Amino acid sequence: MADIPNLRSLTADEFTTSFQALGQPAYRSAQILDWLWKKRVSSIDEMSNLPVSLRETLKEKYELSAPTIVRAQGSKDTTRKLLLKLKDGRFVECVLIPASPALYGEQSDRLTLCVSSQVGCAFACKFCASGLLGFTRNLTPGEITAQILLAEELAGTRVNNLVFMGMGEPLANLPSLLKAIELITSPEGLHIGARHLTISTSGLVPQIKKLADHPRQIRLAISLHGATDEVRSKIMPVNDRWGVDELFEALRYWNSKKKQHLTLEYILIKGINDDLEQARILAKRAKAIRAKVNLIPYNTVEGLPWERPSEDHCRAFRDILKNSGISATLRLEKGHDIDAACGQLRLREETNSE
Ligand code: SAH
Repeated sequence: MADIPNLRSLTADEFTTSFQALGQPAYRSAQILDWLWKKRVSSIDEMSNLPVSLRETLKEKYELSAPTIVRAQGSKDTTRKLLLKLKDGRFVECVLIPASPALYGEQSDRLTLCVSSQVGCAFACKFCASGLLGFTRNLTPGEITAQILLAEELAGTRVNNLVFMGMGEPLANLPSLLKAIELITSPEGLHIGARHLTISTSGLVPQIKKLADHPRQIRLAISLHGATDEVRSKIMPVNDRWGVDELFEALRYWNSKKKQHLTLEYILIKGINDDLEQARILAKRAKAIRAKVNLIPYNTVEGLPWERPSEDHCRAFRDILKNSGISATLRLEKGHDIDAACGQLRLREETNSE
């Protein structure tokens, strides 16, 4: 089957151009965006204020299928993980996190959604479940935004904060990411403020610089997980391409373009990156770019040998940062009991069905 574009992958500008080509008046774009993002219809036939002939043309050129929720797993603290099936039978996941503490500088006590940007991931971080399965394909802008629509429908309320921390490397799917950002933030789209959107990356330097030049004030989180090249390269192959110094130079560039503070994510893995010397170096690096640090005790992944350090050790690591004047949180993770860490639910689904 030829790849027919999904209507929910098109930005307002693309609609305008496409309607111009069809000889349709400009207000048709506004009408169709309203059906897609405000009224949230599931078929072109429901767009009752469009002439029948235009609906037929749209049906020839576009489709409007949406992913389906195949499993919604809740947990004691009501973090909910949704497993979604895409139209080609692939799976991705997203996680709804209510009353999230202010991890990325956004307001607390609201509903946060963690979304995926790719099926699988090509970056092969050694501790991560997504890396185990390798890369399958990029998500389209419509598949990225569909996660928000489905989560809001399930929750019965709007999502306030969005973090790109599900499966995949968002900056390796930049064209879809940029369109998704447009659809998510624009008033005709989902109209979520750019400040409530955090992109998380394993550290793709050229794309960080490109995103820094983007006009919207989106937030950026870096999966650092090692304060020196020696430690980081052991667990993140991407560090062999762009080392820690080069990464921080890109982050300084980011700071020169954006108002919001950066966040450094640091998973604590026993005996791998939790030496207190790493905390001292991390403190210096964070201070140099005025970043805050989120410490996350490692979530164990079936089939991987890694473990989390003791809580006392995690606190000692955090205290070194705090005593150096860094804003550091130790995230005793919500959703640990439902495999909410990156990629784990999909891994289970795919290995079960083999
Ligand atoms: N590729 C992007 C976004 C997806 S990963 C990135 O690297 O930032 C989202 C976050 O979950 C990353 O910080 C990642 O390092 C972390 N993560 C992956 N596996 C984990 C695990 N087992 N326990 C805790 N955090 C994990």
